[in-house]
Amino acid sequence: MKILSVNAGSSSLKFTLIEFPSKNTIASGLFEKIGMEGSMYTIKYNGEKIVKSAPLDDHSVAVSKLIDELIANKIVDSLEEIEGVGHRILHGGSEFTSSTLLDEDVLKRIEKYNELGPLHNPANIMGVRAFMKVLPNVKNVGVFDTTFHQTMKESEFLYPVPYEWYTEYGIRKYGFHGTSHRFIYKTISEYLKRDDLKVISCHIGNGGSLCAIDSGRVVDTTMGFTPLAGIMMGTRSGDIDPSIIPFVMKKTNMSAEEVINALNKKSGLLGISGLSSDGRDVENGANEGNERCILAQNMYAQKIANFIAMYNNLLNGADVITLTAGVGENSKTMRKMIIDRIQSLGVKIDDEKNDFRGEFRLISTDDSKIPVYVIPTNEELMIALDTLELIS
Ligand code: AMP
Repeated sequence: MKILSVNAGSSSLKFTLIEFPSKNTIASGLFEKIGMEGSMYTIKYNGEKIVKSAPLDDHSVAVSKLIDELIANKIVDSLEEIEGVGHRILHGGSEFTSSTLLDEDVLKRIEKYNELGPLHNPANIMGVRAFMKVLPNVKNVGVFDTTFHQTMKESEFLYPVPYEWYTEYGIRKYGFHGTSHRFIYKTISEYLKRDDLKVISCHIGNGGSLCAIDSGRVVDTTMGFTPLAGIMMGTRSGDIDPSIIPFVMKKTNMSAEEVINALNKKSGLLGISGLSSDGRDVENGANEGNERCILAQNMYAQKIANFIAMYNNLLNGADVITLTAGVGENSKTMRKMIIDRIQSLGVKIDDEKNDFRGEFRLISTDDSKIPVYVIPTNEELMIALDTLELIS
């Protein structure tokens, strides 16, 4: 049996085709510039790579093309082999507390949360409708970034603001990257054969968030009402004093949207280094002695370390710290910079064990008070697993 795992953006559609029970990825790819000039797609399978330009007027055309290519290249023998499609959906508000089978009624309910995720939710839903149109007999499942964090209690997800803002407008911490944090918790608890683990999961890529998990329940996470909150990221500021926003508006004549845009797109590693949002560029700059890159790296590592220390307190002592996503999986320098800043917790990195990229490994010393693991995340597999469970 095969399951498609899909992440639709406003002009893109990313897919992974996963086979069960082996859980192997048999094909993956990306459709780009949908509805624009110069649309194209890439499909990887069996060591081969298809790159083609083609007019892709909308997401349905992209989905039809995908199906045609899967059959033409014998990646699937017939459409019947695809038994379900799992969709990444950014926001399910407080309503969706688990992954769910999708139909038109459910999509209408999800649309209520579009204003909470205006860049992603409408596009995610567009992707679902495209599959419903092209493959009307295949079941679709929605897997939300927010659901894992729905296990937080009121005292944990509320902001200390007028309570009516929560009851009237839904202002609360929602948290994101839930599918990744859930995958990491599942992986480490299966590996250590324990379901009562207290885990500090650090998802650090271009976007980034930390999550404190106690026995599978989220106790806190660093992203908030939107993904702008928490740690410093590639282009996002993370937490700042909100009074900065009206102050900058007055000084620059920017609108609130423009300031928020700068906090989302021009801050973080990019804002401080003045060079790049990419950890590799900033690392190269720092190695060449660029002071702003060194400053950006130090700030980035320190913000993450501070949250780890806070979460260790919140969990009353963590059992495991995990690092994942682009930076966590690949940058030994940043991993070391972070771990060196939590020595007060008795955590120590083993430089030899840390010398690798992109694998599941323990990187702490034998006498480290809390073990630190690098675990490659796999949101696509998590989406496919949920889909399999719901369609079975
Ligand atoms: P993600 O959002 O998880 O795909 O992560 C993407 C980010 O990972 C990139 O923007 C880079 O900043 C970072 N990254 C990937 N490889 C490395 C590396 N070897 N060193 C530092 N950062 C890296």
